[in-house]
Amino acid sequence: MSELNQPLGGNSMPRFGGPATMMRLPTQESAAGLDAAFIGIPMDIGTSNRPGTRLGPRQIRDESRMLRPYNMATRAAPFDSLQVADIGDVPINTFHLPKSVDIITAFYDEVLAHNCVPLTLGGEHTLTLPVLRAIAKKHGPVGLIHIDAHADVNDHMFGEPIAHGTPFRRAQEEGLLAHGKVVQIGLRGTGYAAEDFDWCRDQGFRVVPAEECWYRSLAPLMKEVREQMGDTPVYISFDIDALDPSLAPGTGTVEMGGLTSPQALEIVRGAAGLTIVGADLVEVSPPYDTSGNTALIGATLLYEMLCVLPGVKRRG
Ligand code: MN
Ligand code: MN
Repeated sequence: MSELNQPLGGNSMPRFGGPATMMRLPTQESAAGLDAAFIGIPMDIGTSNRPGTRLGPRQIRDESRMLRPYNMATRAAPFDSLQVADIGDVPINTFHLPKSVDIITAFYDEVLAHNCVPLTLGGEHTLTLPVLRAIAKKHGPVGLIHIDAHADVNDHMFGEPIAHGTPFRRAQEEGLLAHGKVVQIGLRGTGYAAEDFDWCRDQGFRVVPAEECWYRSLAPLMKEVREQMGDTPVYISFDIDALDPSLAPGTGTVEMGGLTSPQALEIVRGAAGLTIVGADLVEVSPPYDTSGNTALIGATLLYEMLCVLPGVKRRG
């Protein structure tokens, strides 16, 4: 067990000191030998409104400094059985979105070649498309748990097929998603047409609008999601704007009436037992995150995602 990486403890170096890696884990240049890797994608060039998510990975890493190794609610002990490291950032071309998309896919092809599960620190939501392209190449079409205020199924944005509002339209068209195994949770706000979310329903996606989540536990929903997914490989894509902006204001496309932080935990913890092959946390924009709490919530949700990966043991 001692050969497994451990987060640097708060009693050997102050938590505000030392290299700002995710959870103060060691870094390495490739995914060789890893069961799971934290990877940053410092990108905001697919954003339609407020920018700033290019700074997301660094801020999430910084705000992850207080995360301790054990999950007190679920007793998950990810560092007891998984080899985990922070392998840094994808070197996107910040002047060219289509090239960046291909750079991301190539990077994830390499990560997946090591049988390593990628946990991605975004960056805006465009990045999920190139990640899913790599994931589907390895695993075939995947189930998707997509938590977001927005469906992100626009056909085009400003005439462009690839942007942060289109990734799941493209993923569906390209056959990256398993039929009948897509769930979108937290959708709300205003649309271009009243039928915008019906495109999702017509594809067989399960749409759970925010209004259906208000005032209730999402544990029963996740029980149904687990039954729906079965043993299909599943990808989790969590847009931080799914949360209510009173909790997570540091993001680009704010919508009121969002999820609570306990509901966010119920969703991620409710994915335990699924065959999770990758996950991301996107759309944290530090310039709009004056307290740092949006990045802190994002970091915590990434830790919770690590805690539900296959092979994680629970103590006690
Ligand atoms: Mn999104
Ligand atoms: Mn969104």
